[in-house]
Amino acid sequence: MTRITDILDKLYEYYPDADVDIIDRAYIYSARVHAGQMRLSGEPYLSHPLEVASLLADMRLDPVSIAAGLLHDVVEDTHSGIDEIYNIFGNEIAHIVAGVTKISVLPFSTDQQRHAENIRKMILAMADDIRVILIKLADRLHNIRTLHYHKNPEKQHAIAQETLDIYAPIAARLGIYWLKNELEENAFYYADPSEYQRMQDLVEKNREERQRYVTTVKTLIEEKLAEADIPAEVLGRNKQYYSIYQKMMSQNLEFDEIYDIIAFRIIVENVAQCYAALGHVHAQWKPIPTKIKDYIAVPKPNMYQSLHTTVIGPYGERMEIQIRTRQMDHVAKFGIAAHWSYKEGKTQGINTENTFAWIHNLVENQKNFGNPEEFLENVRIDLFPDEVFVFTPQGEVKSLPKGATPVDFAYLIHTEVGNECTGAKVNGRLVPLQYELKTGDSVEILTTKGHQPSKDWLNFVKTVKAKSRIRQWIRRQEKERSLSLGRELCEKAFRKHKMNFSAMIHTPEMEKAAEAFNFKSVDDLIINVGIGKITPLQIIRKIAPQTQEKKESKLIDRLMRPRERKRQEDAAGVSVHGMDDILIRFGKCCNPVPGDPITGYITHGQGVTVHRSGCVNALKLNPDRQIDVEWKTAENSHFPVSLKITAHDRVGLLAEISTEISKAEANIHNVHLENRENKYIYGEFTILVKDLAHLNKVMTQLKKISTVQDVKRT
Ligand code: MN
Repeated sequence: MTRITDILDKLYEYYPDADVDIIDRAYIYSARVHAGQMRLSGEPYLSHPLEVASLLADMRLDPVSIAAGLLHDVVEDTHSGIDEIYNIFGNEIAHIVAGVTKISVLPFSTDQQRHAENIRKMILAMADDIRVILIKLADRLHNIRTLHYHKNPEKQHAIAQETLDIYAPIAARLGIYWLKNELEENAFYYADPSEYQRMQDLVEKNREERQRYVTTVKTLIEEKLAEADIPAEVLGRNKQYYSIYQKMMSQNLEFDEIYDIIAFRIIVENVAQCYAALGHVHAQWKPIPTKIKDYIAVPKPNMYQSLHTTVIGPYGERMEIQIRTRQMDHVAKFGIAAHWSYKEGKTQGINTENTFAWIHNLVENQKNFGNPEEFLENVRIDLFPDEVFVFTPQGEVKSLPKGATPVDFAYLIHTEVGNECTGAKVNGRLVPLQYELKTGDSVEILTTKGHQPSKDWLNFVKTVKAKSRIRQWIRRQEKERSLSLGRELCEKAFRKHKMNFSAMIHTPEMEKAAEAFNFKSVDDLIINVGIGKITPLQIIRKIAPQTQEKKESKLIDRLMRPRERKRQEDAAGVSVHGMDDILIRFGKCCNPVPGDPITGYITHGQGVTVHRSGCVNALKLNPDRQIDVEWKTAENSHFPVSLKITAHDRVGLLAEISTEISKAEANIHNVHLENRENKYIYGEFTILVKDLAHLNKVMTQLKKISTVQDVKRT
């Protein structure tokens, strides 16, 4: 069993002047609170945090990490709370321990493989301090090393599978390959015992023959490099069972080539020698061109650097060879941990250009710090700044953009869940729908059958899916509203003409009418009545049998004519939903002119009436009939506006007013004058103007006239 002094010895080796007080205190505290607890192995529980701390020292981490490693299970497994850790050990250690605990209690489902990538991202995202991840990995490694004490095979299998799906890939991602390999080898044994056994048997079968092969190749390479004056160490090792197994599975290979399971590694002094050695290997054996990889020029995101090649070896077999410097070999083993190893100090020749920003920062930061402690203190990683990862009630992990809300989550689950979403619970507590989801949140959507989405949701949803679904729903609603309104208008108009609209709706005549107006269906035709694009009267005219009394059709003709003319004039000024040919009228109460804010109201069979926004009369109208309208630039249209002019009467005043109005290129439509006592006159002028700017110009001119006291729009 590892003792605390073993750990301190390791630490002093790479960090001679480390302050170990915090480790001593963490050790004593951990021993006290875990006292009496046992591991399944029968050992005192304390052996586990000690082993974890020892692994962290193997990774050459700082004293804070090692102390946090000793404390990593106290919140989850003892009566100590995070507050107590905070009070005794301070914010940094409490923060790390809280992070480890948070990951440990995540409610992962058994069906992990499917969304393993999301879970990995989630774990990485939750840990805003890289040390949280490293402790979690060390924790998992010790647990998997001692997994044989677990008596429940199902549990063993689940832990092993989770290790393969989640933790080994995280170790690989961080570039800590020794840890990744050991996690995989141990987990493979429990995840698939029969396959593990098969790999073992296959590897054992030709052990001696293979050993001779390794010696032959090793000697050959060593001789060649010695001739070229390149000092090198050559290693030939069996690949791991799990990587052989994976290779066989992914490439659908049979295990008949013993050579396939050996990898050679050449370790040299510097980068130039790497390329030189590669040249000598290729001069000796023919390389397979597609298998040459230069991770020196282009390092992997986790900073791994090496040259890889596969050549046709001395017996016509495929032979994999990796070539790298000792420094690169160190990085390959320790991954990001290598970048703060104390003794080595500065990392050399590491190309940071093609790496993730966070690794870049890590390396950049390192230059500014004297020791690993100071360095790590300043490392707060944010691996996925634009994503949050949250759980469904079933424990599935979903990824959403930062700032996403429960409504986004609901639409991600299903459009119907989104549409019927009435509330949300996050981690069991009710939250507003605008709540910003955080990584690790467990989200439950409350729905009510038949509930409808709100236009307001568009103000806070973040995902494209939610936005488009809500818009789609609004469009469909508008269509339905127009359809029922159109139907209502038609029914009324048809009744007036002694026809039964409901009875006619499915007749071929109606279909013909739809066609005649260029609509795809009768429904479309009625929708367009609803939005005022055509009138029920136009339909009646189309479908009224020719035999019908001429008088009536003449009457209809007469009724239509002025409207059609009006429509030509007015439609030039306003557009409804971007459509051009809708019957438009202007409210006589407020006489809007272009530039005024306006709203439209669908009238009974007479298209759309446009009022100034806020017009008292319009506010009395049914809001269901309200429709968005806007001005479009129109030429040669004139709009009537009433002006009230108050002036002190004098000779020539009226003439002057009319001169100013025509000088401003407006026309007078109507004048009404009232004389009052004290020689004041109150005049109401209706004038025709192009738009609001034009009107303002006229009003300014009128106000300049002497004795005019006030000009007001009515
Ligand atoms: Mn643990």
